[in-house]
Amino acid sequence: MAIERTFSIIKPDAVAKNLIGPVTTKLEEAGLRVVASRMTKLTQVEAQQFYAVHSERPFYHDLVKFMTEGPVVVQVLEGENAVKKNREIMGATNPADAADGTIRKAFAESIERNAVHGSDSPENAKIEIGFFFSSAELATLTR
Ligand code: ADP
Ligand code: MG
Repeated sequence: MAIERTFSIIKPDAVAKNLIGPVTTKLEEAGLRVVASRMTKLTQVEAQQFYAVHSERPFYHDLVKFMTEGPVVVQVLEGENAVKKNREIMGATNPADAADGTIRKAFAESIERNAVHGSDSPENAKIEIGFFFSSAELATLTR
């Protein structure tokens, strides 16, 4: 399996609770490397576009409100099988169903305020990385 990149957001609930460090540690301990990272506050339009796939869902309006309530950290993570690895360490969407040791089990409050976002496929990872990081920024990534 080649080195792959995925996209992560440390959501407003986790940032507000001073959990950027602990969340990032879980990612790093899972074998993922942070290769780009930026703190930002999503605008309503950004949150709406980012979650457009959920626009027909009953929770969409609240989700957009939540994702814009405070700062987030957007990250590009790199590693073998990074998309799948990140989904595993994140845990299930609903923290009540999340496995022990996962980020959502440890830090999430509810199915909505669940600490992290992670791309669900390599195709979506590319799209989501491109949503937040410019090709010029990504071209400078070396290690
Ligand atoms: P995931 O983030 O695990 O990929 P989804 O893509 O299904 O989950 O949903 C996107 C986000 O929408 C979730 O992370 C969560 O913040 C919110 N969400 C999902 N399902 C619900 C729900 N039933 N009620 C409230 N919020 C939800
Ligand atoms: Mg999803």
